[in-house]
Order: sequence, then C-alpha cells, then structure tokens
Amino acid sequence: MLKGKDFFILTTNQDTQFVKLYPEEKVAEIQGDHRFFQCAACCTDDTWDAVKPVADMVAAMGDGTRIPTELIPKYPHCGGEAFPWVRGYGNFLQGKKYEEQYEKISRYVLERKEHKILFLELGVGRITPMFIQEPFWNLTHSFPHARYIAINNKYDFLPKQLEDKGMTIVADIGKVLQDARFVMTENEEVTSHA
Ligand SMILES: [Zn+2]
Repeated sequence: MLKGKDFFILTTNQDTQFVKLYPEEKVAEIQGDHRFFQCAACCTDDTWDAVKPVADMVAAMGDGTRIPTELIPKYPHCGGEAFPWVRGYGNFLQGKKYEEQYEKISRYVLERKEHKILFLELGVGRITPMFIQEPFWNLTHSFPHARYIAINNKYDFLPKQLEDKGMTIVADIGKVLQDARFVMTENEEVTSHA
C-alpha cells in the first residue's frame, strides 16, 4: 500500500520491526529501541550496540536462564550496569538519540502541513494516547487538508471536532489493511483496463 507513496512511520513499538522494513530516516521510534544499550544511571548521553552482547548472552544461556557474571553488560565509562534503551522500566535516556526521533517526525509533518495528509493510527491502546493518538487528533484538526483514520480492535474514539475529517474502524488491523489493499489493487486494474 505504501509503494510509491510519501510516508513516515511514528511508532511506540521498541521491537525494531519497522526498521527492518523501512529506511531509518522514515521511522521515528519515540519509546526507544532494543538494539541499543544506555547507562542505567544515565550518567552520559551515550547509547551503544546491544545486539551482539544480547546474542552472546542468549548463546551462553543455552536452555537455562543464567549467564556468566562477566557477560552482564556494563558501561565502561562509569562501570555501572547497562540497560536497554527503551521506556517502560528504569530510566529511559531522553538525550540526543531521543531528540533525533522527534526531529524526524516533526520535520516530516511540518513540511507537509498544507498537503493532503492522512494520519493513520494503528492499534493505539489506552495507556499512552499522548504519544500518537492525541497529536494525530490535534494535527488533523489544525491542518487544512488532513484526514484521520484509526483502526483498533477495541476502541472507537473520535473527537466531535473531527467528525468531518476522520473515522474509526473497530476491527483486526491485518484484515482491514488486507481489504484496503484488495480494493486498491482492483481500482488499479479497472484504471489500467479503462
Ligand atoms: Zn553510568
């Protein structure tokens, strides 16, 4: 569906799935990313590779749940424990890397505020509406040519002010996107046969 389209992905997922599919400059991971470590005490603004040390720990664990003490990741600068660079437990480091994520999405959106733009929200829950849902509502409301669609398997929230510019679909995201893709493909075929 995104093929040939101008798009950007804003995600609170930390599982790195989007950066496996799309270039890093098209993805903002505003709740961190498990590929990186930070100092647990946030003593500096550094983040560093976690992929290799985690792979080594998993290999050392084998079928058990223990790792050798020397594999516990440390930050050489202070000697303290390293920590995954993600929000949710511990001190999430909101430094340069975090600001870069916000800069990417802010620049993308601001450069297109006069364009036709669709804010497509997929599966935002009730715990953190402030990261994606509420900004999408505000931006849709304030940009003249913006539209908003939310797909969610549980919730059906649409602010009254967006009644003419938005809709919510309560259904399975995979199914809705599959149906949308099917309609797009059919329309392309109709156009090419016309
Ligand atoms: Zn430290």
